Parts: sequence; structure tokens; C-alpha cells
Amino acid sequence: MKKHNVQCDFNLTTTFDVCMTPQFAQYEADSLEAYKCAGGDVSHIKFYEGKDAQEKTRISGAVAAYEWPGGSSHPAKLAQFLLQSVIDQGARLFTFCPATKIESSEESDGSWDVHTPRGVVRAEKVVHCTNAHAALLLPQLEPYIRPNRAQAHTLIPSPALAATSSLRSTFSLRYSLYHFYSLIQRKGDGTLVLGVSRTNPTLSEKTLASRFSTDDSDYNHEISDDALRSFGDLFPYYNSKTSLAHGEGLDHAWTGIIAMTTDSVPFVGAIESLPGQYICAGFNGHGKQCSPVSCECPQLI
Ligand SMILES: Cc1cc2nc3c(=O)[nH]c(=O)nc-3n(C[C@H](O)[C@H](O)[C@H](O)COP(=O)(O)OP(=O)(O)OC[C@H]3O[C@@H](n4cnc5c(N)ncnc54)[C@H](O)[C@@H]3O)c2cc1C
Repeated sequence: MKKHNVQCDFNLTTTFDVCMTPQFAQYEADSLEAYKCAGGDVSHIKFYEGKDAQEKTRISGAVAAYEWPGGSSHPAKLAQFLLQSVIDQGARLFTFCPATKIESSEESDGSWDVHTPRGVVRAEKVVHCTNAHAALLLPQLEPYIRPNRAQAHTLIPSPALAATSSLRSTFSLRYSLYHFYSLIQRKGDGTLVLGVSRTNPTLSEKTLASRFSTDDSDYNHEISDDALRSFGDLFPYYNSKTSLAHGEGLDHAWTGIIAMTTDSVPFVGAIESLPGQYICAGFNGHGKQCSPVSCECPQLI
């Protein structure tokens, strides 16, 4: 990003995994221990407990917290940069043009015909980066990769979380393995971005069932109510003066379709049974894990 001067609000900082229950604190301690025993390097991770964790994270209910180097960026700006770069190098982009079928070309030279409603593209190499929808063209993946609807919100902070009081690190606020909130505060304008986990015991059956969907046309109001309530519980001083002023609070909410895999690990690499075809999909709502300490791709920072 530095090399190409990518304007994507990249913010190199630290991230906190905050354990909000003793049970999850124990789970995380056990996981870290198992990782250490398996030879994992944990030298870049700092641990805080009780009052220390609460002071470091500014979250009064924190039981324990782990901190390590991390960063955030504006994904649309980053994607726009990548897209423009490949177009500048001659790539062509087709929108509203789904690939519907891939078959061996008649040439018998190992190339593939990619069928779309607007014609057929012949290619020596095909990369499936269709994420949650990968199983449409690769039905053998059907049992292992499935779409899941995730939701995020932007909040305009009250003065308690603005200017010099804004949050400098990014956060994962965890009640259990599948019940957590992700949080960053944009450096430029102070907007808070609050993501919601996919399983949350307080949500209705109907809302929980709706996460197995490819419909991202609208957001779920029960989920945003829960997110705002939980945010108020986590940061009581956020709206401590009983109500937020005009212009503060929920700004925008949206959903997107992420790809969950059965073992939580993405599919990346060559598809051996289909020479010339590759896959890069199934990120389970995350990107490629990359800490500046252990990362093998230093050009990222
Ligand atoms: C609300 C939300 C919050 C998130 N928060 C974070 C976060 O904080 N940190 C993080 O790292 N990640 C986060 N993610 C996850 C992150 O957005 C994904 O991991 C990332 O977008 C995956 O990128 P991708 O290009 O692999 O797939 P996608 O962005 O899913 O793109 C796949 C594309 O393929 C297209 N496609 C599918 N099938 C076909 C076909 N047959 N023909 C043509 N095109 C097709 C789709 O239309 C889509 O445009 C979040 C996701 C959501 C929805």
C-alpha cells in the first residue's frame, strides 16, 4: 500500500480481542495455550486482565483482553484502486454478467469456455473468486461453502467518543465464539463502524434463520436494534446524557453476503481435478489474516 500510495484510509494500529464473559476468557486462554503448544509464535500478543483490561479497552465490563498489531482500511477505496490498476493494465470488467457454466473448449488444448448471457469467453486460466456463490460453478463445493448474510452499521459518535476521545484500536467484542461485535472508528471523520456476529442468542428464530440467504437488498431492524443496545451497554458513556443529540447515533446500516466454510478456512489454490482452474473464496467474513509481525507479505504495509 505504501509502495503504490493507495488512498484507502489505511490505519496501522493495534486490535483488541475483548472477552466479555469469564467463559469466553477461559476459551480464549485455552486456545492461545494450544496454539503455543503447537509451536505458534505469540510474542506479538499482549494480555490484560480485570481492571487492566478495562482501562486499556475503555470497556467497563471487560473480563480480559488480548492486543496485537492490526490495521483497518476503507474496503471500497482499496477495491477501487485494485480494479483501476488491472483495468489500466488491459483487463476488461463486465458487470451484470454472471458466469453460468464452464466447460472444456472444443479446441481440446486445455482451455475453458466460460458461458455468460452476453457470450462465451475462452480462457487458459479461470480463477473462481465468486465467494459465497462458488458452488454454482463448482457443485462439488456445495457441502462445504454456503452464503450467509452479515450486517454492519455506521454510527456518528457523541462527544464522549469524538476527537481526542475517539478509539484508536480496532475491536472484536466477544461474548462467545459466535456472539460478538466488531468495531472500528474511522480516523478521518470519527465514524464508528459496528459489525454484528451471525449467531446471537438474543435474536428471534426468524431473524437467525434469515441469515442463510443471498438477499442483501435490505438490513434487519432487529439486528440493528440489538447492535445499538449492545453498543450502549459496552460504552455506557456513549449516550450517558440519556439521549443522543440530533445527528448523532445510527447513520447507515447494510448487509452483505459472506461465504462460510465448514472448517472456517478459505479455499485458495489450484483445483486439481480441473487443470487451469483456481479458486480464492470462502473467507468466512474475514480477509486474509495478516499481522505486521508475522506477515510474509511486507509490501502490504
Ligand atoms: C457486513 C460485512 C462486514 C464485513 N466486515 C469485515 C471486516 O471487518 N474485516 C474483514 O476482513 N472482512 C469483512 N467482511 C468480509 C469481506 O467483505 C469479505 O471477506 C470479502 O468481501 C470477500 O471478498 P471476495 O472478493 O472474495 O468476495 P465477494 O466480495 O463476496 O465478491 C464475490 C463476487 O463474485 C460475484 N459472483 C458470484 N458468482 C458469480 C458468477 N457466477 N458470475 C459472476 N460473478 C459472480 C458476486 O456478485 C460478488 O461480486 C465483511 C463482510 C460483510 C458483508
